[in-house]
Amino acid sequence: QLQLADSLSRLGTESAFMVLARAQALAAQGQDIINLGIGQPDFKTPENIVEAGIKALRDGHHGYTPANGLPQLRQAVSADLHRRHDVEVNPDNVVVVPGGKPTMFFAITMFGQPDVEIMYPNPGFPIYESMINYTGATPVPIALKEENDFAFSAEAVLAQITDKTRLIIINSPANPTGGVTPKTEIDKLVAGLLEHPHVALLSDEIYSNMLYGGREHVSLLQYPEIRDRLIMLDGWSKTYAMTGWRIGYAVWPDSLVDHVTRLCINDHSCVNAATQFAAIEALNGPQDAVHDMVAQFDARRTVIGRELNSLPGVRCPDPAGAFYAFANIEGTGMTATEAQDKFLNDAGVATVAGTSFGAWGEGYLRFSYANSTTNIIEAIRRIRGIL
Ligand code: PLP
Repeated sequence: QLQLADSLSRLGTESAFMVLARAQALAAQGQDIINLGIGQPDFKTPENIVEAGIKALRDGHHGYTPANGLPQLRQAVSADLHRRHDVEVNPDNVVVVPGGKPTMFFAITMFGQPDVEIMYPNPGFPIYESMINYTGATPVPIALKEENDFAFSAEAVLAQITDKTRLIIINSPANPTGGVTPKTEIDKLVAGLLEHPHVALLSDEIYSNMLYGGREHVSLLQYPEIRDRLIMLDGWSKTYAMTGWRIGYAVWPDSLVDHVTRLCINDHSCVNAATQFAAIEALNGPQDAVHDMVAQFDARRTVIGRELNSLPGVRCPDPAGAFYAFANIEGTGMTATEAQDKFLNDAGVATVAGTSFGAWGEGYLRFSYANSTTNIIEAIRRIRGIL
């Protein structure tokens, strides 16, 4: 019998991957499955980016790069942040890692240990709570509520701060709710944090390019007063349809850059070089493909919002960002997992139960609209038939 570390038993997972596996297994048996469960764009990586990756391989970029990322890539990130958010970021504060997730892993392990509290959105990306538990820290949920359009309340966050709080995680636009927190709440949060200088902030802005209905992204980088304790996570996975390339980045405060670089050296050495060259092209090349993708997501979110609200017992607030609709299904009389299983087994529609994103997700289902309008309409038609 192997004697494993206790921490392993506290590690959670991302159940969306399990739903995906089941949907794929059913499809392999010949069933016609529409996948509204998946959290990745249904587009291919734009051709110019793919070509840049291939060229890098042909040009012989086969070796290690600096652990924190190629200097020209970190420079491109800095220029992109200036373009999009009108902020100055020193490329030395940018650390490139294999995806969005490693930044979470590193930030949470940097602060998490027993007798420490870490706040995280609930329902939220499941890896936050999983990682907090893994470190032995106490997860303190930030409740995201339908009546607030799934935005967080700064007052509620600030009220939960204790002298044990070390890190607060926020995510806007959000997975799984599609919620976007308005600037007024972010202003209040930042103002309140000035009274708690011992608290760091991880702002997961991976969906920063996906806001709809005239909404504009507010980056926490736009608040110089908290730069010295802000970790701002973003990346290429969602914006450039590059989930499988495995690359992302964060802007770290001066005091943490060496620590995170050391974690990179211990963990993965560097992101593979060809992917880094592809990522440079993504930022410096034409952005038309991104605009096209976002326009398509926008059209689909209008369709899915309308269709979901037309189902008996289902209610869905206007999806504001990312590519998720978070529908209240309490009126159907089913729990979240019952609805998830019934929709998959009886209608061939994959969705993800709200409870996969934390206990506060009971009564909700996440519908990803990273699928064609035709498939979205057909999926809702099938669900209507079994309700
Ligand atoms: N942050 C959020 C909120 C996400 O939804 C995801 C992916 O689903 C990530 C980060 C991770 O992205 P990556 O695939 O780049 O690790």
